Amino acid sequence: MAGATTHRLLRMSDRDALARVAAIVDEARASLATAEDEAALEAWRTRVLGRSGALTRVLRGIGSLDAEDRRAVGQAANAAKETLEGALEARRMALEHAALEHHATAPLDVTLPGRPRRPGHLHPVTRTLRDILDIFGRMGFAAIEGPEVELDDYNFGRLRIPEHHPARDMWDTFWIDEEVDGRTPLLLRTHTSPMQIRYLDRHAPPVRIVVPGRCYRYEATDATHEWMMQQVEVLAVDEGVSLADLKGTLQEFARQMFGPERRVLLRNSYFPFVEPGVELAVDCFNCPGDDPRCPVCRGSGWLEIMGAGMVHPEIVSASGYDAERYTGFAAGMGVERIAMLKYGVEDIRTFYANDLRFLRQF
Ligand SMILES: [Zn+2]
Repeated sequence: MAGATTHRLLRMSDRDALARVAAIVDEARASLATAEDEAALEAWRTRVLGRSGALTRVLRGIGSLDAEDRRAVGQAANAAKETLEGALEARRMALEHAALEHHATAPLDVTLPGRPRRPGHLHPVTRTLRDILDIFGRMGFAAIEGPEVELDDYNFGRLRIPEHHPARDMWDTFWIDEEVDGRTPLLLRTHTSPMQIRYLDRHAPPVRIVVPGRCYRYEATDATHEWMMQQVEVLAVDEGVSLADLKGTLQEFARQMFGPERRVLLRNSYFPFVEPGVELAVDCFNCPGDDPRCPVCRGSGWLEIMGAGMVHPEIVSASGYDAERYTGFAAGMGVERIAMLKYGVEDIRTFYANDLRFLRQF
């Protein structure tokens, strides 16, 4: 009867195993009820259900049982595992619920200091842009916008900068490898001047507009250059508009923008689409004007804020108007540069670094 003896022994082992599973479940339920936070829950899970936890050890041991016993113990252990996983989830939810209840019913302590909320405000470049548009608006200029993705023809060609013209080196360009309505090449506009052409093509003089917008240059950045900048284009075309009108308009702008104490300088310059061309500069706010280490003016004492000039007669006639009768002036200014002057900012890159410690100063 050796076989019967073996059988009886295995049955004993089966009962032991089942009893052990039941004991594990009882102990685990009791200890789970005392777990009060997430760390305790996790420790409990590791100890009971983890890779070397009590239940896992039982499941590992069933390999030494015979097939029938293995099934009975395996089923009991797996059922126990599911029960305990459910109990763990229920305990976790109960704790979370209790925490919410406590929060909702906690007495309001009116003696605690308040939590200040910082109100948002406009970015300094946006404020500067609005100031510029306001000043020109009061002088009768309407604000209009144009496309940032522009045709070579408007950005360069019709502004008298044909392909291979050396002046193209003044504007390092981001080219776009697409075409629109079969028209090409496309680029990210390097200045807002293309709107001179677009507007004059559709609107007969008198014209008095300002064009705000983003422009892009493929160039290295430093304290006074960014690869993206905002510009405002100024254009006035009418009968009898002269260089004196340009000078008066820009001086009035500088006076309203920077106050009467800031000095401005008009000096000779060159842009292919104006004749003559001038440059408007404002005296350096950062140094007495002769410090070669000054990061803003580099010792020149002056910061150029816009290029300007009389609209070239060829541009007026190319849009279909009599250039003998209609004359005009144009100017283009960098909004960031004007913001730097107005707020005493030494590095243009800080405007777009999104550092709240910087932005909260304005
Ligand atoms: Zn300086």
